[in-house]
Amino acid sequence: MQKTHGAVICRGAPYLFVWLLLLASTASAEWHYEKQAIMGTEVSVQLWHEDEKKAQELIGQVMAEFHRLDGELSPFKENSELSRVNRGAGKQTVTLSSELAALIDKSLWYSEQTGGAFDITFASLGKHYDFRKHQRADNQLTEKLLPAIDYHHLRFNKAENTLHFAHPDTSIDLGGIAKGYSVDRAIHILHKAGVCCASVSAGGDARMLGDKRGQPWLVGIRHPRDKGKNAVVIPLENTAISTSGDYERYFIDEGEARVHHIFNPTTGMPTNTDDTDSDKLISVSIIGPRGFDTDPLSTSVFVLGKAKGLALIDRLPGFEAVVIDSRKRLFFSRGLDIPRHSSTEQPSATQTANQITPET
Ligand code: ADP
Ligand code: MG
Repeated sequence: MQKTHGAVICRGAPYLFVWLLLLASTASAEWHYEKQAIMGTEVSVQLWHEDEKKAQELIGQVMAEFHRLDGELSPFKENSELSRVNRGAGKQTVTLSSELAALIDKSLWYSEQTGGAFDITFASLGKHYDFRKHQRADNQLTEKLLPAIDYHHLRFNKAENTLHFAHPDTSIDLGGIAKGYSVDRAIHILHKAGVCCASVSAGGDARMLGDKRGQPWLVGIRHPRDKGKNAVVIPLENTAISTSGDYERYFIDEGEARVHHIFNPTTGMPTNTDDTDSDKLISVSIIGPRGFDTDPLSTSVFVLGKAKGLALIDRLPGFEAVVIDSRKRLFFSRGLDIPRHSSTEQPSATQTANQITPET
């Protein structure tokens, strides 16, 4: 009997062991989430880790990195390196940290690539806007400061990491590139720690590490005129995606015009998103390997408009675009093989026009 019992235990033990293992792994190996308000937006981290304590440590490291970058790059923090540069570089040549130098170097590269659509000197006027308070630069101020917007005013010495503003009224702002860069830094931390699968986002900039454990990440692109609904959902893995829209930071003025945060450096004013012109875009999403590129590209394509913007993305290897025009139709860059749905307009050879059918 004893023997039988022993035999039962012996036979049962491996099952019990496997069962306990399963129990242990389901208890600790899981998704870990955290959200914090940083950089004037919501930063969110989702990662898979088998060890709860380690996962929390990594989330802490990621959030600390966002806080550090916010501390250096915010135009609203007096002691940020960016604020110090804005105070000094109009008067004398200033020396930059290698990190800020890299951000400025990349920004200037995109200024060149986009014929000046991406231009961090937009801030010369942009700093006079406050979307929460419904404040904007008036015509007189716009006329006065428009000459200060020109990336050629940035005398940047890459070898020496120095910068001088050739115009005394020039200011810079990295709002069109800093979040994408920060998301890359976060993913770097997680990748180095051996994390297989993670997603990090800061407002409209997101990057995924790996897949969602056997499934692709499903990334929703918000409907630009219907809060809470998606215009489209895209399956993605191991990539970055940045979205720029006129619906995040904006107000509607007395003349019913939408005053938003993406500036056309040529006019010094928010990019026109009027629905009388179907070349105008109201949402731009760029997919590519790094947020350091997808972030400035989404801002750039928004400013350039549909024809020039999609042509730019089709020219740059490794990037794709999903854009929504002012008449709320979806268009895709050449490499996105998305099936055509009911279309209200004859699509061009390289683009597909779809009326948005929001998900419910
Ligand atoms: P978000 O800040 O919501 O991620 P975007 O990536 O579209 O949005 O970037 C918009 C931000 O980029 C603005 O808030 C501003 O700080 C900055 N910006 C606006 N216009 C330009 C421009 N023409 N060139 C470079 N940066 C810009
Ligand atoms: Mg951007």
